[in-house]
Amino acid sequence: MKSLDELAEIADELPTNYLRCRLWGHTWPEKNERSEVIDLNTMKFTCVCDSCEAEKFRNVTVLGSLLQSGLIYPEGYVLLGVGHLTTAERDVIRAAYVRRVLERRSY
Ligand SMILES: [Zn+2]
Repeated sequence: MKSLDELAEIADELPTNYLRCRLWGHTWPEKNERSEVIDLNTMKFTCVCDSCEAEKFRNVTVLGSLLQSGLIYPEGYVLLGVGHLTTAERDVIRAAYVRRVLERRSY
């Protein structure tokens, strides 16, 4: 388990687009959606986040039943050794984005 200070250091090294997705959530535009026929009964839909390139997928029957779904994060998005984030840990990561934005602003 990492301390909040250790997590802040890790968060400061994350790409800005990863921090944006952690603030806003991922962006799934229709232009990034793909479909693939798996078999006579199954379609696989995938969509890539416009910002961080995370990929989510849904395997759906032709009648609409959801068979399988998942999300594949880009390398480095999931923080190794951190586990499920607490509210305080999420705050620390958002604070890294706040610092990043403040650094870029011209007053
Ligand atoms: Zn994203």
